[in-house]
Amino acid sequence: MRPLSLTLPLFLHLGIASATYTLSEVKAQISSYLDQNQNGTHTTRSAPPSGCQLACGFLDFALPQHVSYPQSVIYEFEESRYWSQQQELTRPSCRFSPTSAEDVSLAVLTFRVTQCKFAVKSGGHAAFAGASNIDSGVTIDLIHLNQLSLSADKTQASIGAGNVWYDVYTYLQPKNVTVIGGRVSAIGVGGLTLGGGMSFFSSQHGWACDNVNNYEVVLADGSIRQVSYSSAYSDLYWALRGGGNNFGIVTRFDLAAYPQGDLWAGSDTFLYTNETAAAINNAFYYLGVNAPSDPYAQVIIAYAYAQAQDLFVIASDLQYAKPIPNPPILQNFTSIPGSIASTLRIVDLANLTVEFNNTNPGGFRQTYWTFTVQNSASLMADMVAIYQEEVTAIKDVAGIVPSAVFQLITTDMTKHFSRNGGNPLGLAGQGPLNLINIDISWSNASDDERVLTAAQNMVNRSIAAARAQGLDHPYLYQNYASYQQNVFASYGADNLAKLKSISAKYDPQQVWQKLQPGYFKLG
Ligand SMILES: Cc1cc2nc3c(=O)[nH]c(=O)nc-3n(C[C@H](O)[C@H](O)[C@H](O)COP(=O)(O)OP(=O)(O)OC[C@H]3O[C@@H](n4cnc5c(N)ncnc54)[C@H](O)[C@@H]3O)c2cc1C
Repeated sequence: MRPLSLTLPLFLHLGIASATYTLSEVKAQISSYLDQNQNGTHTTRSAPPSGCQLACGFLDFALPQHVSYPQSVIYEFEESRYWSQQQELTRPSCRFSPTSAEDVSLAVLTFRVTQCKFAVKSGGHAAFAGASNIDSGVTIDLIHLNQLSLSADKTQASIGAGNVWYDVYTYLQPKNVTVIGGRVSAIGVGGLTLGGGMSFFSSQHGWACDNVNNYEVVLADGSIRQVSYSSAYSDLYWALRGGGNNFGIVTRFDLAAYPQGDLWAGSDTFLYTNETAAAINNAFYYLGVNAPSDPYAQVIIAYAYAQAQDLFVIASDLQYAKPIPNPPILQNFTSIPGSIASTLRIVDLANLTVEFNNTNPGGFRQTYWTFTVQNSASLMADMVAIYQEEVTAIKDVAGIVPSAVFQLITTDMTKHFSRNGGNPLGLAGQGPLNLINIDISWSNASDDERVLTAAQNMVNRSIAAARAQGLDHPYLYQNYASYQQNVFASYGADNLAKLKSISAKYDPQQVWQKLQPGYFKLG
């Protein structure tokens, strides 16, 4: 940090793990900055800046090269790195790109002093506006927190919170290990891990949040803490395993690393027919039942609509975490006749995530929704019928690409949810469950209302169908949820109450709830 002047005291506070400031120290520095500003030392502005204008100016002065403004190359480059158009069109007053946890700490205290609202971005793949960007506030872009290292015994990878999974995997792959992370190359480490994190290896090892050994976190008081199950902050460790952006800004994740080589994986594509759909839904159901016999298998079933051809298709994405073609556990899928295209092959993890990235292009209007039901092939058919009816009503929308994506939350996954004190998701020991993601992209904002209404209908009608059959489940997966969905209530009343009390303990001023308004709040 650049000192304000040689006559100012150096406010380094070496109390905790790293050099940080206190709120009153930053307040004093900002006052001094304002005095000099008003005296014309730094700018010729007539009225003293306030709020985010002041926060941007102070951070720019204190940490040169870390702040960018609209129309600058860096600002516009960072703005272009969101997946959805809604997020990309959101315009903060400035963007702040820290290079250390100490920088993040200074920013948080600056926002508190100036009462400037802020957002935090890792990979920028949350779909709705305001999730990791903020109009007229300041966005902390973690892009430069991109360090990567592996312990000498190869059991733990330390990963800066601004990395995307492709960079993580290409770093670890030559060392023949991996971590439990995203399945699409451009997803960020931060958002995925703080919301849960389903990976190709989750039946073996649990979700990403269950494989964090230690979080380096900047708390609301500016302190930098090392948070693990065995630390003094085991309650915070529990909360971070699914608590999203409500407990601090994570600057580094220390993740359990596991030996891993190539996989057998890819996608079989089918034209939709009732017979093919029934066969796929049955195979999906039986995988849920049989999964414990072979936790190397994972499947993603996506029902989609191809506008150019005006027809429905089914993508059967199969993954086996060993380089063994067509393993018995997946043969209920591979024996289904009529595939019109297949990419199934032996492949390395990084390249597999690139294949998935290519089928999820950015730059469009996007909406993500979620719900969970019990594992049932006939309910799956009912939900697909609802999806198709609702898609038919919006199939003329320019550029529409609507999908209903089905994934199993297996009993193998949820047994890891109670490891190291557990997580707050409310699913430990449950399953097999069917986790649904309604995922729609389209071209023009003028169609937002029609698309969002159809998406909401798909969700509401499917949940009603599940409830009528006694097959509904309350869980809403944060990483797939729409902002209209009440994620934390779905964790269960006890878990939500515990999350709120941990929030009150570590953040008595409720900085993460009030000054960082975007994404899912504890309420
Ligand atoms: C194409 C696509 C593929 C996907 N694949 C998967 C998948 O394989 N498995 C899966 O589980 N999910 C998947 N998801 C969902 C994904 O996990 C979420 O969208 C997630 O929020 C993305 O994380 P991000 O860092 O890219 O997003 P961001 O938009 O950067 O962040 C999301 C939220 O997390 C907060 N946040 C991010 N980093 C930090 C941090 N370090 N400290 C505090 N808060 C932080 C942000 O403030 C924001 O509120 C996918 C999504 C898309 C669009």
